[in-house]
Amino acid sequence: MRIINTALSLTLGASALLYGSTVVADTRVLASIKPLELLVRAIATEGTQTTTLVPPGASPHNYSMAPSKRRALENSDVIFWVGPGMETFLTRLLTGSEFGERSVALMGETTNTGASENVSMIQDHEDTHHAHEPQGQDHEHEHDHGDGEGAGQDPHVWVDPHMALTMAEAIRDALARLDGADKPALDRNLRAFESSIAAKEMEIRKQLEPVQDISLFAYHSAFIRFAEHYNLKVEGVLTLNPERSPGARHIAEVQASLRSANHPCLLTEPQFNRQWWRSITQGLDVTFSTWDPLATGIEASADGYAAFQQSIADAVLKCLPENAQH
Ligand SMILES: [Zn+2]
Repeated sequence: MRIINTALSLTLGASALLYGSTVVADTRVLASIKPLELLVRAIATEGTQTTTLVPPGASPHNYSMAPSKRRALENSDVIFWVGPGMETFLTRLLTGSEFGERSVALMGETTNTGASENVSMIQDHEDTHHAHEPQGQDHEHEHDHGDGEGAGQDPHVWVDPHMALTMAEAIRDALARLDGADKPALDRNLRAFESSIAAKEMEIRKQLEPVQDISLFAYHSAFIRFAEHYNLKVEGVLTLNPERSPGARHIAEVQASLRSANHPCLLTEPQFNRQWWRSITQGLDVTFSTWDPLATGIEASADGYAAFQQSIADAVLKCLPENAQH
């Protein structure tokens, strides 16, 4: 509803009835990655089309966009992405003159707002971050996910439900600015999302109680913000940069942590090659569980984000010795 006025869209609607063609009068929202599309689905009103740019199976860390995908950017009324610290392949396009005005970087929304809750979450994160890394890794520790705005802070903000809520507020604001926006409906959807997330979070906290003593190892830092939110113990991160295989020294340190861990469980991700980490766990009693930070199998519906949170919790629960598949 952004470009054409109501009278014109009625005319188009009538001709669509006559000729059976599709009318593109809906609001079209493009999300860089699927979890952001889930947040949009929770907030958007009827008549909103959503799509995800990074296709299933690909990782935003090393994705390179085919020139034909520019059409998706051109055809959208608003584009949501995490920001330059995450989807580096979009930085030039979405901060440039062509798409800058219709783009919303959601990581800025979670870290630059005045909300004191956010500020303290970020500080908590900084304070505890080193405890999650294998010792002696400070030389490699500065965050590897990019050098743009937000560098140094873990960019996987969408796995934390409180940050997701802040992102949902920014999505509501952006959708409310579009012509023809139904603001009361957007507000209602945001409130409904807020209460569904609060309920889901309580449920997950209860489910994860027995996991507190398990030593979790993550493939890359995508898991950290979820772990911090639910007070889970992450004893090691296999690769500090998912675009590279880790160095021998880092692998040796992770192996040492795995050896001394209590029921070590390695949370792997479907986007990355399984071979090299299989070999580092050889001869060790390690449980494996796969979670998907990109929510690939989750239906893009208003309840999708809660289902995504549950899918992460389910993967963690598979780490319990009684549920484990070795
Ligand atoms: Zn990542």
